[in-house]
Amino acid sequence: MTETTKNWLNFIGGDWVDATDKIEVYDPATDEIFATIAQANTNDVERAVVAARTCVNSGVLTDCRPVKRAELMSRIADEIRNVVDKAAPLLARENGKSLNDAREEFLIAARYFDYYGGMADKIEGKSIPLGEDYIDFTYYEPVGISAQIVPWNFPVDICARSLAPALAAGNAVIVKSPEITPLAMTWLATACKRAGLPDGALSLLCGPGREVGNALVSHPDINQIVFTGSVPTGQSILKAAAEHAIPSVMELGGKSAAVAFPDADMNQLLDSVRWGIFFNAGQVCSAMSRLLVHRDIYEEVVAKVAEMGKGLSIGSGMDNAEVTPVVSRQQQQQILRICDRAVSEGARLVTGGQAPADLKGYFIEPTVFADVTPDMNLFTEEVFGPVLAITPFDTEEEAWALANGTDFGLVAGVFTHDLTRAIRASRALRAGQVFVNEWYAGGVETPFGGLGLSGFGREKGQEALYSYVNTKNVAIRVTGPSK
Ligand code: NAD
Repeated sequence: MTETTKNWLNFIGGDWVDATDKIEVYDPATDEIFATIAQANTNDVERAVVAARTCVNSGVLTDCRPVKRAELMSRIADEIRNVVDKAAPLLARENGKSLNDAREEFLIAARYFDYYGGMADKIEGKSIPLGEDYIDFTYYEPVGISAQIVPWNFPVDICARSLAPALAAGNAVIVKSPEITPLAMTWLATACKRAGLPDGALSLLCGPGREVGNALVSHPDINQIVFTGSVPTGQSILKAAAEHAIPSVMELGGKSAAVAFPDADMNQLLDSVRWGIFFNAGQVCSAMSRLLVHRDIYEEVVAKVAEMGKGLSIGSGMDNAEVTPVVSRQQQQQILRICDRAVSEGARLVTGGQAPADLKGYFIEPTVFADVTPDMNLFTEEVFGPVLAITPFDTEEEAWALANGTDFGLVAGVFTHDLTRAIRASRALRAGQVFVNEWYAGGVETPFGGLGLSGFGREKGQEALYSYVNTKNVAIRVTGPSK
């Protein structure tokens, strides 16, 4: 396959596989279909599971010295970096994101393979003292087949985030790619194949979630599920997982809040707001979708955020505009409906709230609502678009209560130069990750995941690798019965 290919294929057991049915892929900046991908079906799921089981049973990834897996991971990282120039424009085109961000996404994907490759030969067990009659130790076994369901907002990054630790631990992986943005991810399979990943260790299927995704997570021969996506889909997958008692990692939605105090550095705050809610057109599960501001600086912050939003360029990702289109017409219409409802509920629309009249694609103006109160839907409902809800507060306790006032618990942030208050915030805020003075601070090395409806389990960081192994304990009696 090349970057000019118009019909893309599934990757099953080491082969590229076509299908009679096709899924059409749109360019969100122009509302035009520009490519298709073979639509996988339940037979393809079966074929992928058989290939994965054959790979697992062969021991090809587990019988070798672990350093061989580390070397393989490093080669995959290199091959990903080799395809960036060809693959990033495809990601920008299918998702709508900026070309710079698409390039960065591939580089992060490569970084996951380097990072977890570095752990592949360090998955060490423990020796547990039980007295002189025993030797007891643990070791980690790969789970077997990891089924991974990926969403459309960061398909390459999120795919690599779970694929890399799973392979580093010696598992076979079957990925179900998102129907809306399935193309760029195929370059990850290309990189794996070029690096010499054994057949069956990775299959990549694109098909409807309810048919192909469901068949995969319900399959009796898979051993683990990693899901990143919406809450209702996560809940339905958990029911399927319960059927076979399959362990799962759930990365679901969020409605995360930043809390700004009067001693916050205004430039730092504005930079974080821009990045936190307008990056990737706000389609980030850990977006700063709420901003809670102390009343002493409330009107100043509202005015400055609105001015910043109005000043951002809106346009195609291929031109590296600051605000790019959302992924689909359906998303665009849903976001506009949420904005209309917020107005009718009494929120103050400070800027945006519309689709720009002169652009054909799925654009939404950078949108800022002020005076959003906890009883409004906008306060609790995930928008997944470039829409910020601002709320005033008077006391620190009130700020924590407002921040924690949703069923989600993904990330949270605090903007202050009072270190003691920042530490209090880190304890009081109900979230898997707390940012201080920089939204999205962290990286491949830092554990990520939620509480409540945001899900459970952690991705990223060393901790994540241990979701892809089972602990086995071995207890050996070394002396005869006492006389
Ligand atoms: P979605 O739940 O609609 O789809 C996610 C994936 O699940 C897709 O590949 C889809 O085909 C598949 N799917 C759908 N029904 C299925 C089923 N019954 N069985 C198995 N698979 C099925 O979510 P989306 O619209 O693609 O993504 C947006 C949502 O994802 C937002 O809520 C966002 O917050 C969340 N998200 C979370 C994270 C995170 O790390 N916490 C990251 C990105 C997105």
